[in-house]
Amino acid sequence: MRTVEEVLALVLNHAEPMTPVITPLATPALGLVLAEAIAADIDSPPFDKALVDGYAVRSADLQAPPCTLRLIGEVLAGATSAPPQVEAGTACRITTGAPLPPGADAVLMREVAACEAGQVYYAGSPVPAGQHVLACGSEFRAGQVVLEAGTVLRPVEFGLLAAVGKTAVRAYPAPPVAVIVTGDELVEPMRKPRPGQIRNSNGPMLMAQAARVGGLPRFLGIGRDQREHLLSLIKEGLEVARVVVLSGGVSMGQADLVPGVLAELGVERLVHGVNLKPGKPLYVGRRGDRLVFGLPGNPVSSLVCFELFIRPAIAQLRGVRSAAWQPASLPLAAAWSISTDRDTFHPARLHRTSQGASVEPLPWLGSPDLLTLSRADALVRVPPGAHTFPAGATLPVLTLFGDFGA
Ligand code: AMP
Ligand code: MG
Repeated sequence: MRTVEEVLALVLNHAEPMTPVITPLATPALGLVLAEAIAADIDSPPFDKALVDGYAVRSADLQAPPCTLRLIGEVLAGATSAPPQVEAGTACRITTGAPLPPGADAVLMREVAACEAGQVYYAGSPVPAGQHVLACGSEFRAGQVVLEAGTVLRPVEFGLLAAVGKTAVRAYPAPPVAVIVTGDELVEPMRKPRPGQIRNSNGPMLMAQAARVGGLPRFLGIGRDQREHLLSLIKEGLEVARVVVLSGGVSMGQADLVPGVLAELGVERLVHGVNLKPGKPLYVGRRGDRLVFGLPGNPVSSLVCFELFIRPAIAQLRGVRSAAWQPASLPLAAAWSISTDRDTFHPARLHRTSQGASVEPLPWLGSPDLLTLSRADALVRVPPGAHTFPAGATLPVLTLFGDFGA
């Protein structure tokens, strides 16, 4: 049976990034990854710029305060008329964002000077050249690369792209992800299950997981445990999506038809079975550039396999450069005993205190127990064996949803 790391490496080996497309700088581009480096078309700021409201002055005039300067005019941000020349002994009123008028090399903040009858009076400390001025090109120069290829477009990148006049960029599109759940016992969530039936919880969950990591999910429906129905649904999935996510039907039961149907459709099997708890029956295959994941139907197995393997695959498809996860190493909040026969990813809660972060494994009923998962925000990893860990022992931890670098 393959190890988790082997499966992750195989998956990433077969996840070729999407073909970049020109994308307008609008909300759907949020979170996409740049496929090109972006250079500035102009200097920023494009002129020596006042950073405060006040008076443009010559610093040489203000080396031995108190001093009085003659007010000769004003420059407003955005004004197009020629600014006055600031000669020795004079000052010019200026607003934040306005270009420094010729002759001036510093700005006196309005609050530190008094202005009366055309005179500016200043009694503070000597004024250094460049005070309250952002020099032309000091943020970036025309031609300078301001964003590298591989950068994720966050709001700040939207601002920077706008500042350099880029209203469309080459970016990796969101990969289409088809979700198909299988099982004769499944009913849609709006139905009250009859005896022997259960609600399809994996469909909405996997759709949300795919959307959350930048995929473009599409639900293709509940597949019956019946060859023809599965054939038509999976065929459709392979047509419309780069990633086909199936849940259920990959174990050893007689209704577990998914691997056989995939073989019929020409999907090459890469993995069937991984040394993982929860998620041992996992199937991974590919056809051309299509990746197919057959997840065990138990909701927590589905969720964990998605996080461990599909999330990195989607990340790499959407252009993320280092898509593999890296567990953090965190101390246990309390002593913990666990006995397991496989590489286990156990639901846990993260705690952050002034002493730092710690992790608390949660009591858990096993792979059908989604309720416990809803209280978890991490998975703590334990190798096979019978363990008793003391409080403070450090273990590898993967964040599910949150800000521990995930
Ligand atoms: P399977 O992998 O098909 O053997 O299913 C394993 C378990 O997961 C069974 O108890 C199924 O009823 C359950 N299961 C399968 N698919 C879903 C689903 N979409 N939502 C919730 N539970 C499911
Ligand atoms: Mg089933």
